[in-house]
Amino acid sequence: MPDIPVVLVTGASRGLGRGIAVEAAAEGFSVVINYASNAAAADETVALCQQAARTLDQRFLPVKGDVSNRVDRDAVLGQTLDALGRIDALVNNAGIAPRVRADLTETSEASFEELLRINLQGPFFLTQAVANHWLRAPYAPAIASGFKIVFVTSISADTASISRGEYCISKAGLAMASQLWAVRLAEHGVQVLELRPGIMATDMTSGVKGKYDALLAEGLVPQRRWGTAEDVGRAVRAVLAGHFPFTTGEVIHLDGGFHIRRL
Ligand code: NAP
Repeated sequence: MPDIPVVLVTGASRGLGRGIAVEAAAEGFSVVINYASNAAAADETVALCQQAARTLDQRFLPVKGDVSNRVDRDAVLGQTLDALGRIDALVNNAGIAPRVRADLTETSEASFEELLRINLQGPFFLTQAVANHWLRAPYAPAIASGFKIVFVTSISADTASISRGEYCISKAGLAMASQLWAVRLAEHGVQVLELRPGIMATDMTSGVKGKYDALLAEGLVPQRRWGTAEDVGRAVRAVLAGHFPFTTGEVIHLDGGFHIRRL
């Protein structure tokens, strides 16, 4: 029987990460469900993955760990390998918005550092750890089309929001990280893709729902709706299933057409 492929999804207890975990389960993957503190939510993701799974042999493992902390990152990868024996894909999804939306003239250094550490430094170095594991890996990928890295960035990678500049900078940096790792790992058969979501209905945006409802009604997004965790999950599933075989370092927009320049 072929090995069951394993995907590690960071920030999978809630929101987009949960949607990614569930679709990966439906694709036949075992899923490591990383989270920061919300164990109950991670357990809910486990239950949803079990419902979506293709086979009884798939495993769904909640693993606590702060992606911005090196000790935690090493522990998350270590627990993945100890429990499941392998890793075939990493989805760098965990991320935070600023605690306070502040104008650029008021951005605090503490918020800047927090955003850069969690949204950029964490996924960069977790990718480095996984890449180094693969470069030494004594096993072939359990995904026919090879090992995968996915970065979940944001339309904020190239949309200037002056009330959360540190978030935009973290996502712009992450978009470059995706290209860098794509170039570095292509010759080793590792595919790297950036998924760039737009305005998505999750806890992250619940506090600004009214503002975005109004903007959507005015046509800010051509498809005129909120994006969902399932929208992102299905895109990741397509990547994991190998449906983009001759593509790497690409940006896949998941934003209902928001990014199209219009007149
Ligand atoms: P969310 O609903 O706030 O969920 C965030 C997830 O990340 C939770 O699972 C949380 O774990 C985890 N997390 C937070 N900090 C972490 C850390 N330091 N280490 C490990 N895990 C951590 O967010 P979301 O809306 O799903 O966003 C997911 C990703 O998509 C983020 O990178 C975000 O920037 C990006 N994105 C979101 C939108 C949007 O409109 N929502 C749009 C574009 C891009 P706990 O449950 O334990 O707190």
